[in-house]
Amino acid sequence: MKITRQKHAKKNMGFYKYNFGFREPFQVLLDGTFCQAALRNKIQIREQLPGYLAGATQLCTTRCILKELESLGKELYGAKLIAQRCQVRHCSHFKNPVSGSLCLLSMVEDGNPHHYFIATQDQDLTAKIKKRAGVPLLFIIQNTMVLDKPSAKSLASVHTMQTNKLIPEHQKQSIALLKEQQGLVKTSDPKKRKRKRAAGPNPLSCLKKKKKKSEEGSQPSASQKKRNRKHSKRKSEAAAGSVYSGPQNVEA
Ligand SMILES: [Zn+2]
Repeated sequence: MKITRQKHAKKNMGFYKYNFGFREPFQVLLDGTFCQAALRNKIQIREQLPGYLAGATQLCTTRCILKELESLGKELYGAKLIAQRCQVRHCSHFKNPVSGSLCLLSMVEDGNPHHYFIATQDQDLTAKIKKRAGVPLLFIIQNTMVLDKPSAKSLASVHTMQTNKLIPEHQKQSIALLKEQQGLVKTSDPKKRKRKRAAGPNPLSCLKKKKKKSEEGSQPSASQKKRNRKHSKRKSEAAAGSVYSGPQNVEA
C-alpha cells in the first residue's frame, strides 16, 4: 500500500512540477481542520511530508487561520499549536480577518502564482479548490496523508495549454500554406498590389507621358502633314471642283 501510495504521489508531483512549475521547497498551506486531523491521527506532518512529496517542504499558514483557531477555543488547542509552528504567509486580510477557507481561497487566486499546496479536511473548501487549476490538495484519510490526484480542472487546463503549445506550430505551417494557396487572394495580393502601385504608377505614368510627348511631338508633324495633305487635297479638290464644276456645268 505504501509503495503504491508513494508511486501515485510521485506521479502527481511530476504533474504539478512539469505543468505548473512547482519547485522545492514546496509551500504547503495548512488550515485548522488539517492540523486537527494530523493531531488525532498522530501524524508528524513536518517529518512525513518531505518524504511523501519527495522534496523539501515548508509548512505555512495565515493569520486568518490562526485567528480562527484562537476563536474556536480549547478543543482546537493542539491544532492551534501545530499551526503556530508554521510560517505565517501574508494574506490580504490583515485588518479584517476572514474565515480560514476564504483566506486559503484568496491565497491561490489568479492561477496560484506562489505554488501553494492546500492541506485541508474541509470538504466545501476542497470542492472549491478543485474548481481551480494547478492547486494540489493534501488531506488525511485512514491515518495517512494523501496528495489528491489532479482535479478535472487542472487536467483540462493542462490539455488546453498543450494544445495551445501545439497549435502555433501547426498554425505556422498552415499559415505558410495558406499564404501560398489562399493567401494569394487575401494576404499577399494587397502587398503586391501596393508594391505595384508604389513602384508602378510613377514609371508607367512617366512612360505614358514620355510616349505622349514623343507621340505628340511626332504626331503634330504627322497631323500637320495630314492637315497639310488635307489642305492640299482640299485645295486640289477645290481646284479640281472648280475644274470639275466646269465639266458638270458642261454636262448640265
Ligand atoms: Zn487571510
